[in-house]
Amino acid sequence: MNTLPVVVVGGGPIGLAAAAQLRERGLTPQVFERGPVAGAAISEWNHVRLFSSWAELIDPAARRLLDATGWVAPDDDAYPTGQDWTSNYLQPLAAALGDIVQLGTEVIGVARRGRDRVVDAGRDTEPLSVHIRRADSTEDRITAQEVIEYRVPNIDDPDVRTRYAGKHIVIAGSGHSALTAIVALANLESPGTRISWVLRRGDVGSTFGGGEDDQLPARGALGLRAKRAVDAGLLTVVPGFRTATIEPDGDSGRVALISDTGARIEDVDRVVVLTGFRPDLSWLSEIRLGLDPVLQAPVELAPLIDPNVHSCGTVYPHGVAELSHPEPNVFLVGMKSYGRAPTFLAMTGYEQVRSIAAALAGDLDAAARVELRLPETGVCGGAGVPA
Ligand SMILES: Cc1cc2nc3c(=O)[nH]c(=O)nc-3n(C[C@H](O)[C@H](O)[C@H](O)COP(=O)(O)OP(=O)(O)OC[C@H]3O[C@@H](n4cnc5c(N)ncnc54)[C@H](O)[C@@H]3O)c2cc1C
Repeated sequence: MNTLPVVVVGGGPIGLAAAAQLRERGLTPQVFERGPVAGAAISEWNHVRLFSSWAELIDPAARRLLDATGWVAPDDDAYPTGQDWTSNYLQPLAAALGDIVQLGTEVIGVARRGRDRVVDAGRDTEPLSVHIRRADSTEDRITAQEVIEYRVPNIDDPDVRTRYAGKHIVIAGSGHSALTAIVALANLESPGTRISWVLRRGDVGSTFGGGEDDQLPARGALGLRAKRAVDAGLLTVVPGFRTATIEPDGDSGRVALISDTGARIEDVDRVVVLTGFRPDLSWLSEIRLGLDPVLQAPVELAPLIDPNVHSCGTVYPHGVAELSHPEPNVFLVGMKSYGRAPTFLAMTGYEQVRSIAAALAGDLDAAARVELRLPETGVCGGAGVPA
């Protein structure tokens, strides 16, 4: 009997759901979260309201664990902000899991014990060795650049509002975060504010999503609100603009964006870059991962989520079969499993970790079963909201 813990890297929604699932299966999870709180990544966008309702944001095993603690469940039909998701769910969940969750602890390396990546022997018998670094002093404060912002600005904060009101703002990106920023900044209602929305793609196309056909109504509504802002002329769309450099615009304190074809956007006060995440896999360099060279998602999963060919986001729920790697007993789940694809939903992650926990506990039937139906974006069948 293997009595070693199952190490879960990251105490976000999917990491904590994995711990709840593993615990129910009688296994011993150990969660390492580098941030000071559970859901640290979400704290970066506390003010953003999610397009998923509470019913879609709570893992079933986590709910069972929390119910036993006297936790008051939020209203299934309400839409939380990032802050609500962490304070009303993730933090109570981390508390209920107790010592299983170690905060302020970063995983900086994973290797097969005594074997580097090249050695074949013992890969399926030797345990993994996980290197961690604990926070023993306060975190460094990273001073963001004056001009460039990588988060959706919180315009309810008066200081932030002042930085954007009356300015020429460029928003880069075409995912839900970019749409959220468009809606927020287009409604600043401050004279002199100019917004340019730069897109790499040649036309707006399906960027606004499926609108009323989206099975997640709030996600569809976000696209519709952004489209209304564009139709009302509240911003200028600059399609086919691939930013190559950003340079100072004289001594004005502003910048100019220059595309790879030499096109310029000048007199820019603020650039909001919302072009998606890319997974940091540096700490897994000793592990044999099977990743798609383009998306950096597991090879079986990548064709299902490739945004080049798959705009609908209707990836079928998947689990241990699609998420296994050449390295035994190592799984990338949650946001990291999607690599550079932008369409990850918490519901997908909860199903991933349910299946993997079942497989690790030896219940292969449950691991292979699909226990989730994912909502469609509404873009698949038709053209989405007409651009
Ligand atoms: C603005 C915005 C809005 C969104 N809205 C929705 C929505 O409405 N519905 C929805 O389903 N999804 C939404 N998402 C996607 C959402 O972020 C994910 O569903 C959810 O956060 C994924 O959870 P996760 O646990 O996979 O990843 P994360 O929330 O990113 O958690 C990963 C955790 O791992 C920690 N970590 C990373 N590396 C290490 C390491 N080496 N050692 C230790 N700890 C580490 C991080 O600090 C972090 O806490 C949204 C995303 C954004 C950015």
